[in-house]
Amino acid sequence: MTQLDGPGASDPVSVPFTPGMRDNPEELAAIPDEIVRAHVLPPGPTRSQEFSEQWRNAAYSCFSSGHKFCREVCPVTQVTRNESWTPTAFHANVVAMDKGEMTIEEIAADYVNCTQCGACELRCPNTLFTGDFYRFRTRTVDVVKAVRAFAVESGVHQPAWQSWNERTDERSHEPVLGQTAVSQEHVRDWSDGLDLPIGGETVLFVDCEAAFYRTSVPRAVAQILQLAGYEFGLMGNQWCCGGPAAEMGYVDQAKRFAQHNLDDWRSTGTKRLLVLDPHDYISFTEDYPKYFGADFDIEVVLVVELFAELIREGKLTPRVPVERAITYHDPCRLNKRKGIWKEPREILRSIPGLDFKDVDRVTQWSYCSGGGGGLPVEKPELTAAISASRLENAARLDVDTLVSACPWSERPLGEAGEAADIDVVDIHEMLAESLGIEVGGSRGGSEGSGARGGDRS
Ligand code: SF4
Repeated sequence: MTQLDGPGASDPVSVPFTPGMRDNPEELAAIPDEIVRAHVLPPGPTRSQEFSEQWRNAAYSCFSSGHKFCREVCPVTQVTRNESWTPTAFHANVVAMDKGEMTIEEIAADYVNCTQCGACELRCPNTLFTGDFYRFRTRTVDVVKAVRAFAVESGVHQPAWQSWNERTDERSHEPVLGQTAVSQEHVRDWSDGLDLPIGGETVLFVDCEAAFYRTSVPRAVAQILQLAGYEFGLMGNQWCCGGPAAEMGYVDQAKRFAQHNLDDWRSTGTKRLLVLDPHDYISFTEDYPKYFGADFDIEVVLVVELFAELIREGKLTPRVPVERAITYHDPCRLNKRKGIWKEPREILRSIPGLDFKDVDRVTQWSYCSGGGGGLPVEKPELTAAISASRLENAARLDVDTLVSACPWSERPLGEAGEAADIDVVDIHEMLAESLGIEVGGSRGGSEGSGARGGDRS
């Protein structure tokens, strides 16, 4: 017996009902066919529709699962507990835009609150359960980048990001020294006295933060390479890689910068790029191939991986003991985004004298410094809170030093480290010390401290 031919067949409540069906009982005719507001789009494909088309699948797969596991690993959520700034909300907003319930003007500011660390993608069961089988990974970082780009295209700007990118455009480098100008004429100043050639088959690319603020990092890298007898030069005319502009939504500017750099490599016969900064590494391995396709035929080598290899081959042998109790800070763009976490540990384990306490979230759920995704430019206070939380976790291990492999994380971590009485050291500098190299250069510090946060006019 079914409901239809049973005793209750005349009772509308017991009859199966689908809104809009022709044979629905008359009594139910008043129930609307749709329970959401109709989504009326103008004729022809709008940019908004194209956007929805591209991101609909990723956004709905998150929205329909609804578990929100990512919140617990999201560094912004950890320090703010603000539901509108979770990875879940970033997807839900795209669903709302797709349905015509919200506009880019209404949601753009929420998307500032993301460091693009990628933890949410790894924790997401949509990645965990189906990823291995379908080669699928939840694309929250890409969604955030795309919404930011859509906002800029639509004329919706965040004030500090707009001013940051205007200055980067004027100077061809990010304004990492605040009111102190940085420029093309000074981009190689960090290498004074090292006698490095220009151009050649292999060149070292130095990110803006390291080139102008934490100059001890590129100096350490260059001197270690020289010690190992590894031939390389510097770029003739190096501009910012464009990665931060792309992360903040200024994609046209990022592409112009990328084109300039590619032209420069071509003009000096460069075939291989040595990269010390994880953010540049992401730009060169993910953004540039998207911009140029097969035309981007430059080999990209991460310096940390190269140094681990040179140590393995016996071409570098750290011998000077470094008596410190350390833990390692996995830069998000190396560990979570690129799965590179073994080589830095190989380097640290080769340094005599270190008491290495590596029990500090060594896997993919590693902490974030808060220094990525343009967050320190718009919300330095949030970056500072995330870095402080990172240092609290390090302090529990009773260490005196936190070692990182990312110049962009070292400024906020270093500032938080002063309060926690923990020194923040770059891995390349530490290796140089153990190789007996006098590095020189600046480790940033009070002269440049807070420049990014204070430079928001
Ligand atoms: S874990 Fe993934 S699917 Fe779940 S709420 Fe977060 S982003 Fe969405």
